[in-house]
Amino acid sequence: MSSSKEIYIFVGPPGSGKGSLSQLCVRTMGWIQLSTGNLCRKHIAEGTDIGKEIDLAIKSGKLISNSLVTRMVVDWFLEQKPLGTVILDGYPRTLAQAERFCELASRDLKEFNIRVVRFLISDEAVIDRLMNRFVCTNKDCQAVYSLAAGTTLAPRKGMFCDNCSSLLERRLDDDLQTIKNRLKTYYEHERELVQFYERSGLPVYEVHVEQPLAGVFDDFSALIEAHVS
Ligand SMILES: [Zn+2]
Repeated sequence: MSSSKEIYIFVGPPGSGKGSLSQLCVRTMGWIQLSTGNLCRKHIAEGTDIGKEIDLAIKSGKLISNSLVTRMVVDWFLEQKPLGTVILDGYPRTLAQAERFCELASRDLKEFNIRVVRFLISDEAVIDRLMNRFVCTNKDCQAVYSLAAGTTLAPRKGMFCDNCSSLLERRLDDDLQTIKNRLKTYYEHERELVQFYERSGLPVYEVHVEQPLAGVFDDFSALIEAHVS
């Protein structure tokens, strides 16, 4: 493995398994997964300046601004000084975030190579996965399960969590029409994002994720082997 510092931006629709691949990379390769959702919650809980701004935005029903979320991510890099590879999962979400992130990264995170990984999956497969996705109702657990055919993520006993035995439930926003709407919005953003990354000269790799996680991981590892080492 090379000693260069890498940032991977995972780009893929909901249900494409970005989180699962991220967690596998964390467990097997010691990478760091940066979840902007968790980072927001941490800032709010600790009452930092950024946390107060986020809290205010949420309480007044506004979206968190692109510059605020990007400043939070770049500050995280500057404070944590991660020594290894970092995965950005679910960020940048929009063209404006991507532009802002690349602008700040080219100034403040020069030592990192940024690489984009695009998750390729059909709408049918995403719909099947999301309609069969169940989440642990215990807020401190939130483990994700699947009842899709051939999955390795089925709960062991009935509709209860393997970890904490709490009841599992389908997410409210995982109904068919909502999923279709989310996909449509997602692909409008994805097209803009990928075009921007390509224009900016960042490498954009493609991984076919309509297969079991082990296969996705093998393909992804082969990609890294070919391009990064
Ligand atoms: Zn649980």
